[in-house]
Amino acid sequence: MITILVIITTLLTPITTNTSSLPWNILSKDNFARKLTTASSSVESAATDFGHITKIFPSAVLNPSSVQDITDLIKLSFDSQSSFPLAARGHGHSHRGQAAAKDGVVVNMRSMVNRDRGIKVSRTGLYADVDSAWLWIEVLNKTLELGLTPVSWTDYLHLTVGGTLSNGGISGQTFRYGPQISNVLEMDVITGKGEIATCSKDMNSDLFYAALGGLGQFGIITRARIKLELAPKNAKWLRFLYTDFSEFTRDQERLISETNGLHFLEGSVMLDHGPPDNWRSTYYPPSEHMRIVSMVKQHRVIYCLEVVKYYDETSQHSVNEEMEELSDSLNYERGFVYEKDVTYMDFLNRVRTGELKLKSKGQWDVPHPWLNLFVPKSQISRFEYGVFKGIILRNNITTGPLLVYPMNRNKWNDRMSTVIPEEDVFYAVGFLRSASFDNWDDYEKENMEVLKFCEDANMRVIQYLPYYASQEGWVGHFGTRWNIFLERKYRYDPRMILSPGQNIFP
Ligand code: FAD
Repeated sequence: MITILVIITTLLTPITTNTSSLPWNILSKDNFARKLTTASSSVESAATDFGHITKIFPSAVLNPSSVQDITDLIKLSFDSQSSFPLAARGHGHSHRGQAAAKDGVVVNMRSMVNRDRGIKVSRTGLYADVDSAWLWIEVLNKTLELGLTPVSWTDYLHLTVGGTLSNGGISGQTFRYGPQISNVLEMDVITGKGEIATCSKDMNSDLFYAALGGLGQFGIITRARIKLELAPKNAKWLRFLYTDFSEFTRDQERLISETNGLHFLEGSVMLDHGPPDNWRSTYYPPSEHMRIVSMVKQHRVIYCLEVVKYYDETSQHSVNEEMEELSDSLNYERGFVYEKDVTYMDFLNRVRTGELKLKSKGQWDVPHPWLNLFVPKSQISRFEYGVFKGIILRNNITTGPLLVYPMNRNKWNDRMSTVIPEEDVFYAVGFLRSASFDNWDDYEKENMEVLKFCEDANMRVIQYLPYYASQEGWVGHFGTRWNIFLERKYRYDPRMILSPGQNIFP
């Protein structure tokens, strides 16, 4: 526990802005004129992120307007006698300073966005070439203009393409389409040597797979070619409540294993803490709140299965019948099924409403001590017993969304950098906590307790959006794949310049 407190204290200690690690003449170089800034407002905002747990100050922020600007900066660092760290910052929605560059340069990727270019859709090829600084919501808006859409999403769309491709990009579509990193055809990447390369599964394939889920370690992604399909118009969105965890997971696992036309499947845990809705989604009819709350009170923990089928004019006539048939086959608590019919856009952008509500109450920019895990299927019952019904009920502090849903391993590719469990099916479990500046470390302690429980029980649980305070943690995270990760680092970023905020190569 002492080590944990030392780590937390270290992370919270503000670091004075310091330009001494940058080459003395960098600010006067013509090619960075007016693009590289040490203004305190820019440096301050690059020092924080959505997590609001760390404050890590860069010396300067680059607002690039072209790929060449980024290449020049990386080359400058690579060629300097004492190189300086630099990190791409997408939308800064990391939770532990992953896009920070202490005493280095943060590259504000969003300054690259140009509304007149930056996304080119090929209707015949069914793909979009997207500048990596674009938010997924912007990509969706553009592709929908042509009746097309990407197929794999995150629950929240105000994240950059480069940011989610550096992690994985998962949501309820992952069981069927794979994560976002499985739906990229080609990328342009600037390596840590300042060399720009186009890569795909057939061209520079090692760099391609390294950068997908690569935590920003091997290069800065500047363009990604994203797979598209014809866009549906509407979404039939159902939720089913369960009191029995094994029935809940049995139904989830069956649904992701068969061809039933579902496009989305997630699940969540509901605890006895107020109304059934949370910031992530307003869903249940107000008239049902009392009934749901009393079921949660009676059982203390219940589970919600969430499924979606998209449809349009051609499938409208059959979607109700198909969903009815599917409902009949499930073992939820009879009488606790809910249905919504929304547009495709409203479904994908569902978290935005909650975000705006929280922002208006000043509750968005608060600490977020999140913990995201991949739990092998064989361990999920032990996890439920020890964590949801054990640690979480005992501590009685967890509020907010608690996700649990399965995905198929065969939709991932082992050559990509993201680490996933060995089993054919594994669960994503997300503790999406909102805290206050006074109490966030209570949640952090609970996160540590969960991780320790999993480790002591040898459950082979893997962190998603991982955070480790030391390299030892990372070596354990990558396991047998650590050597590949290390070799790739030496190959593509030998001077260890890129994304130091991940804390992998101190
Ligand atoms: P940043 O936080 O800016 O950067 C993340 C990392 O990627 C950093 O290390 C950075 O240096 C690196 N990076 C950024 N851009 C590039 C680039 N172009 N090239 C190379 N490296 C780069 N994740 C999911 O998978 N599914 C979800 O449903 C989901 N929901 C979320 C909801 C909310 C409200 C939030 C805050 C986060 C959610 N996330 C989810 C996590 C999110 O995908 C990651 O935090 C992601 O990194 C955020 O993207 P960003 O653009 O803000 O990246």
